[in-house]
Formats: sequence, structure tokens, C-alpha cells
Amino acid sequence: MIDLRSDTMTRPTAEMRDVMHDAAVGDDVYGEDPTVNALEAYAADLLGKEAGMFVSSGTQSNLCGILAHCQRGDEYLVGQLAHTYKWEGGGAAVLGSVQPQPVEMQADGTMDLAVLASYIKPQPSLNHFAHSKLLALENTHDGKVLPHGYVEQAQQLARTHGLALHLDGARLFNAAVADGVAPRAIAAGFDTVSICLSKGLGAPVGSVLVGSQDLVHAARRWRKVLGGGMRQAGVIAAGGLYALKHNIDRLADDHRRAAELAAGLAEIPGIEINGQATNMVFLTIGEPTRGSSARDWAGFRQAMADQGVQLRGGPHLRLVTHLDVDDAAIVAVIAAFSTTLDS
Ligand SMILES: *Cc1c(COP(=O)(O)O)cnc(C)c1O
Repeated sequence: MIDLRSDTMTRPTAEMRDVMHDAAVGDDVYGEDPTVNALEAYAADLLGKEAGMFVSSGTQSNLCGILAHCQRGDEYLVGQLAHTYKWEGGGAAVLGSVQPQPVEMQADGTMDLAVLASYIKPQPSLNHFAHSKLLALENTHDGKVLPHGYVEQAQQLARTHGLALHLDGARLFNAAVADGVAPRAIAAGFDTVSICLSKGLGAPVGSVLVGSQDLVHAARRWRKVLGGGMRQAGVIAAGGLYALKHNIDRLADDHRRAAELAAGLAEIPGIEINGQATNMVFLTIGEPTRGSSARDWAGFRQAMADQGVQLRGGPHLRLVTHLDVDDAAIVAVIAAFSTTLDS
């Protein structure tokens, strides 16, 4: 099955399973798991930060980051469509009494910085306002790489207002590879950065939060409070470390394949390509020109699945390329769309 629903669908390879099998382990809550320690140090160095913390998911990583920056009654400013606002169950509010201040986003994944500035609460505020403490950005967002100049201006604005900076870099390495820069260049200027090991990098589980010693120390306490202190976690950390060492440069293949997929699908009548960036293709499928009945999306997905292609959504689809989607798969996916839409 060619699974295009997400780059989370990657399976650990035989080589990755081997290093997981052989991983040296200890009790990580005691700080004694050598493989977790190695992963944290490696990720911190790669991203130009002092320290790292291995966590079970990107959601937990972002939450620990936000809670390290913000106290009860504080707020973080965040894009309206950002994962840390929209897709994490309201965790900062639910578990930290930290108010999100969502900010409208533009089509390119950026926020208008004048609009952003207008949401920062004046302090002191006669006790009216939450305390604006943190700006959270996301790179990539829907596959789109944030323009470098925009990131610098947003960071400058945050600093001017005394805000700390967090980056949700679930797909940071896609941004680095697309821009042809080192990962630490994408992470530069942020106090904390969260990366996912279990997306395009191909590890089965895990994220790493990196930042200063002090911030990671604070985040580590929140990880324990959240029930995220793991014991012999080296078994899974080994997969993450392997992913960081072997699977970053190859993200360029995913980007090339996404571009080829978009180009191939654009030729098929009834498909409108809405955009392609890094490893994601967004498209809309029109209604059938023959017959009178509207398209049945469950039926459409089943017809695609019968040809070995797993999808999510309809009529708007997001297709994501990753480690388990090779060149032959791209050809097969284009053929499957063509056959299904023609029938
Ligand atoms: C996947 C993702 C996360 C983290 O998701 P988990 O499923 O909790 O690991 C965070 N931010 C973005 C932008 C993501 O795509």
C-alpha cells in the first residue's frame, strides 16, 4: 500500500530496527539512559542549542516548551492554523492555564507582523490583560518554508516586546533541506525548538525539544508532570538517533517526488493542483462530468485503495511523500488517479 495520508506513516527499516534492538539502555528518569542522552546531545548540537529532551510526541514537546516559557495567566501568540494552536487539543490552556492568542495567517503560512504586534498586550495593563510571554512559529507550515527575512523580522518584533520564541519545527529538516541550509540556521534565534523524529525522518516514535540548559530543565519537570517520563526509552531513542544521522539529506528525494507528483496529477482532467511545497501536494478533485450523482468520497478512496493508494479527505486532498514512497510509487499513484477519475 502506498500511504499518502501523512509522513507519519513511515515504518522503521530493518537497519533502524537493528540499532533499536541493540540499543544500550538505562532509566531515563534518572538521566541514565545512554542512548537517550546521546540523542538529546546530538539533536541539541545539530540545532545549535545547549540541551535537548526526548519526548514521546511533538504535541508533548510543544506543550513542555510552552509551559517552560509561560506561567498560569500568561499567553502565547500563535498562528490561527498552527499545530500548537489548532491541533494539540488546547493543551496549554487545558493543562497550563496559558491562554493562546491566535493570529490570522496568510496563504504563505506567515502572519502580518503589524497584525501580530496589535495582539501583544501592553504591560502593565491595570491587571486587565493576560501577560504576553511567547511567540510560537511553525516551520514548515503545510509544507511551506517560512521566508528567512520574515522569521528574522518576527523574532525582532518579539524581542522588542520582551517575548520569548518557540519554533514548532516538526518538519524543520524539510525546511533546511529545501533552503539548502544547515538545520541550526532554521533554529537560530529561537529559545526553544521542537522537532519530530517520526515524520519524514522515519523513526517510529518521538520528538526532541531543544533550548538552553535552563529552559530544557524547566521543560523536563513538565514532561514528568505530564506523565512523559519514560524509563528504558533508549530502545525508541535509538530509532530517532539513527533517523537524524541517516535520513535528513534524503528528504530532498521526497520534495522532488512531491513536485513530480503534482506535475503528473496536473495533467489529469478533473484535478486542480492548489499548491505543492516540500513534501506536500494539495489538490481539489472536481465533480464527475458524466452522470448526475455527486462523487461519493468514501467510494473514491476505496477505489484508490483497491489500486494500492491510501488517501484521506475529498474533494480537497493533501498528499504527503516520505521514506516509504519511491519513484515507482509516484508513477503508480498518478496512474491510479487517472484510472479512477476516468471510470
Ligand atoms: C505532527 C506535528 C506535530 C506533532 O504531532 P504529534 O503527532 O504529537 O507528534 C507538531 N507540529 C506540527 C506542525 C506537526 O505537523
